[in-house]
Amino acid sequence: MFANLSDRLTSTFRNLRGKGRLTEADIDGTIREIRRALLDADVAVSVVKTFTGNVRERALGVEVSGALNPGEQVVKIVNEELIAILGGESRQLRHAKHGPTVIMLAGLQGAGKTTLAGKLAHHLKEQGHTPLLVAADLQRPNAVNQLQVVGERAGVPVFAPEPGVTREGERERGNPVKVAKKGLKEAEQRQHSVVIVDTAGRLGVDAELMKQAADIRKAIEPDEVLFVIDAMIGQDAVATATAFQQGVDFTGVVLTKLDGDTRGGAALSVREVTGRPIMFASTGEKLTDFEVFHPDRMAGRILD
Ligand code: GDP
Repeated sequence: MFANLSDRLTSTFRNLRGKGRLTEADIDGTIREIRRALLDADVAVSVVKTFTGNVRERALGVEVSGALNPGEQVVKIVNEELIAILGGESRQLRHAKHGPTVIMLAGLQGAGKTTLAGKLAHHLKEQGHTPLLVAADLQRPNAVNQLQVVGERAGVPVFAPEPGVTREGERERGNPVKVAKKGLKEAEQRQHSVVIVDTAGRLGVDAELMKQAADIRKAIEPDEVLFVIDAMIGQDAVATATAFQQGVDFTGVVLTKLDGDTRGGAALSVREVTGRPIMFASTGEKLTDFEVFHPDRMAGRILD
């Protein structure tokens, strides 16, 4: 991820670093190159504007003084502004004061929610928590089963509706709101410290999906609602994130598939557009391909 963006910024900075003196034209040339590199990496236009605007304003104020030459100072400014766009500080999960901490996952189908549920459960278990996974994705026939597999791998129990529940002789899919509530009750009774509720995703944003997720949210009052987004989604990132923010609202973001070799603009856009912190990153299919998101480390990787 970011290989191309990283290469381009590095070569822009190579020219800049040697400069003992910077004219306004030098700065504008640099800003132009940064703008193009970000747009080519699929960063949202509004975010690119904010970012380059901030860098330009600060770069114009740079003076010849101190240990860094003007070129190096501009590189430092870009680094600082990149960290700011990515959210500044990393934010920890908010845990409930009483009873289990409730974490709900939402996002499009294929974003990596179920995989992430297992990773997050594993991560929390390592910190001494006793998580329970709740399978409230009843849309996709195999989703419950997939979560059970993930739970087994993580060594974490899974609360799931009885398979093929029939009522009045009819086969029904089950009610995800009821499953989520029952899962929460189970966690309280068995004194789990964390509950992670996996919810259904569709291929595209749709009203029914949003309502279902919003209903689950209302019913279980989660401490955190994590919006899971595939970092490879490109320019669709902003529209998808905005739709989920309006439809369900979320308290934090998880970026998945950061191991991919695509452009990664979603990673750079979603925090600025939604104002919600990126909290975790998923970087592969293994349980341990998971990390707490640190804006400064991510900026460092991009500008390396
Ligand atoms: P869900 O529909 O949102 O629950 O998505 P899944 O968890 O089923 O993930 C969809 C696909 O993406 C699966 O094939 C996962 O193995 C894969 N996947 C999930 N997270 C990652 C990741 O961080 N990196 C890579 N390379 N693949 C991932």
